[in-house]
Amino acid sequence: MTQDPSHLALVPFVSVANMMKLVHHIGLERFLTELATEIEADFKRWPQFEKAPRVPSHSDVGVIELMPTSDGELYGFKYVNGHPKNMKEGLQTVTGFGLLAEVNTGYPVLFSEMTVLTALRTAAMSAVATKHLARKDAKTLAMIGNGAQSEFQTLALKAVCGIDTVRLYDIDPAATEKCAANLAGHGITVVTCTSPEDAIEGADVITTATADKNMQTILTDNMIGSGVHINAIGGDCPGKTELHQDIVARADMFVEFPEQTRIEGELQQMPLDHPFTELWQVMTGDAAGRTSAAQITLFDGVGFAIEDFSALRYVHSIIRDTPFFTDLDMIADPDDPRDLFGMVMRAG
Ligand code: NAD
Repeated sequence: MTQDPSHLALVPFVSVANMMKLVHHIGLERFLTELATEIEADFKRWPQFEKAPRVPSHSDVGVIELMPTSDGELYGFKYVNGHPKNMKEGLQTVTGFGLLAEVNTGYPVLFSEMTVLTALRTAAMSAVATKHLARKDAKTLAMIGNGAQSEFQTLALKAVCGIDTVRLYDIDPAATEKCAANLAGHGITVVTCTSPEDAIEGADVITTATADKNMQTILTDNMIGSGVHINAIGGDCPGKTELHQDIVARADMFVEFPEQTRIEGELQQMPLDHPFTELWQVMTGDAAGRTSAAQITLFDGVGFAIEDFSALRYVHSIIRDTPFFTDLDMIADPDDPRDLFGMVMRAG
């Protein structure tokens, strides 16, 4: 049956297939760099955003979360899960989708897959943090946890921060092998390692992206030398952390949204008066980032709604002149707004 076009208010939808085409169309490193720029632009106008910790629904095996925010003109949310046991069942640990809407009408302007987009935005966020906090001469990354996020994390740091060497470690050597094979030909020197100690040897930046639903100590204090920047992004739920408390105590900590980091990040291990700096204030120049070459900086990244908002806003801006979306008939919009019933009856 053909549809009555009078009720249509079409919403562009970016499927997984189209998101992948879009990444190839733009180029992965350019995509990551432009997304990092958008995230930074939104962090610099942080006070304009409506902010709240994400809304989680925890189970014994994982979490399903809603992440909303608005800048007064656009509203965005992401649905995302985190299920560390999924990988062993052949499923993704993290999947997501999201929506951007006009605040003025409440009408959606974009609906998108966000499994691929979350990996891209999490990588772009680590790159923004690294750009502001790592030593300017940082060249070597230790990437610990070589799962779904790892190649994106590595290439974002290459594109945005000039990282030229990555040292890979995962408790599962098959993950390291996969990551090394995927990174081949991307213009970065890849070294596979058999222990976390080996991986961090000579590293200027360490990114931990491991998945486990408990308090892990992927890194211990004796492993961390002066001058290192750490992106700890795998600890992003209550009771799920990656670093020994002594590292967190010794490092200067930088966070996204403190109310959420307090519940989900490495910060949950620390007393309430543990000092931290909000990363947006480093970007606006209102707070200091790295102040010496010897300092240990820690980005306690848990993933905040504004990063997803930036990602959706970026995708919305780049799909316009491309074929990489389909129009979804997901909003009932009768010509006479009060005649919703009539529209339904006419369809019969
Ligand atoms: P994944 O399951 O694909 O990969 C995780 C990897 O960690 C696996 O290869 C596993 O073998 C490895 N691992 C587990 N314990 C380890 C240990 N002790 N030492 C070394 N490696 C270990 O998961 P993913 O999609 O890559 O996500 C990684 C983590 O990042 C998850 O915890 C996820 O929740 C988190 N994450 C955070 C954000 C954020 O914004 N902060 C965004 C996305 C994902």
